Amino acid sequence: MAAAGLRVAVIGGGIGGLAAALSLLRAGFDVQVYEQAGALGEIGAGIQISPNGSRLLHRLGLAEALARKGVRPVGVHQRRWDDGRTLQRAPLGDVIERTFGAPYYHFHRADLLAAIASALPDERLHVGHRLVEATDHGDHVEAGFENGVRIAADVLVGADGIHSRLRQILFGADKPSFTGCIAYRGLVPAERLAHLDLEVTSNNWMGPHGHFVHYYVAGGRLMNFVAVREEEAWTRESWVDRGEVADALRLFEGWHPQVRTIIGAVDETFKWGLFDREPLARWSMGRITLLGDSCHAMLPFMAQGAVQSIEDGATLTSCLQQADGDIPAALLRYEALRRPRATRLQEMSRLNKTRYHMPDGPGQEARDAQMATAGDRSIAAIGWLYTHDAGVVPSEAA
Ligand SMILES: Cc1cc2nc3c(=O)[nH]c(=O)nc-3n(C[C@H](O)[C@H](O)[C@H](O)COP(=O)(O)OP(=O)(O)OC[C@H]3O[C@@H](n4cnc5c(N)ncnc54)[C@H](O)[C@@H]3O)c2cc1C
Repeated sequence: MAAAGLRVAVIGGGIGGLAAALSLLRAGFDVQVYEQAGALGEIGAGIQISPNGSRLLHRLGLAEALARKGVRPVGVHQRRWDDGRTLQRAPLGDVIERTFGAPYYHFHRADLLAAIASALPDERLHVGHRLVEATDHGDHVEAGFENGVRIAADVLVGADGIHSRLRQILFGADKPSFTGCIAYRGLVPAERLAHLDLEVTSNNWMGPHGHFVHYYVAGGRLMNFVAVREEEAWTRESWVDRGEVADALRLFEGWHPQVRTIIGAVDETFKWGLFDREPLARWSMGRITLLGDSCHAMLPFMAQGAVQSIEDGATLTSCLQQADGDIPAALLRYEALRRPRATRLQEMSRLNKTRYHMPDGPGQEARDAQMATAGDRSIAAIGWLYTHDAGVVPSEAA
């Protein structure tokens, strides 16, 4: 289908929405992005972007911008919660880049979002636009925003996150479920941890009913941590709340001194309830579709939520390029190509909750023994995830 002139409206200016918009724009579509917030922005936290995501961002012309801000960890280091014993080490860095043709990156989220946003012309970004309604008229879609603006488009894409309004419009209201996990997140100035002489790796400490992840971001100036614990309920109205450092330290009582030193060095920490959704049976209807957390929110235990949203945008672009005039069919094809992979990652992320949080005892010992021999982060084991090129879609005829 001739991309020129085809109007695509993307709802949501998060990582998924902006990456999709840039991909569509590079392919020649007439893209507009509508974001509810008054300005584009991301929370103060880190994010891991594996080669299956960075490959696509490089293709969009962002390699230099990403290299300026990203940290390339040399490996993954998985450890036991109390004595710090290594359970598994796997290479990242040059080995990953050589093998998969794109780097494994750690970013401050704001840096990643800014890198994508800066490649989009300002006139295509409409902040202060909160989608409230959408109607598919068959030959076009109409969308209405809280500020009274109405727009028409040929394709409407919901990249509006886990609370997605567009998902609700398409498939009715359902509630994301609390996963029984809370996460304290924080950023520590690296100089406060200099005495620990920490390696530039992606670190995951596994213990009873919790795990602790940390890695450098912002060119190595900040250490990002995510401290996850199981908790029975999330009683707050909001999904994110200011957390007390002392509470986080209490939850990690008895954990290795390195874990406690990192938590104790932070100025402020935020506490998140972790939610996910059941895999959706459908993502698209007519000329409207979904991407990212709006259709496949997942626990962060595979570090793939944002990466999968970037993959969605690439596949969506290719399917629309091959649409041959039938947009609903192209959106169904996009969904058919993407849904099995995203669902698999939703399920794997859930399984990792059990695997990472085993109480001390025979089950945990069996896991440790298995990790020591199996190398589940080895090149061979992770290849299926990192080799996938979501922008390469076989032509329909093929
Ligand atoms: C603790 C934690 C760690 C994580 N770590 C990783 C990681 O290392 N790697 C990784 O790949 N993923 C990670 N994730 C997952 C990742 O953060 C998400 O999957 C990703 O940010 C989803 O992007 P999105 O664009 O789909 O949604 P969002 O980032 O939620 O963006 C949605 C956007 O839509 C806007 N919006 C919402 N409603 C409307 C409306 N009605 N109208 C207009 N705009 C609207 C919002 O304001 C927002 O800007 C992690 C998640 C958590 C919680």
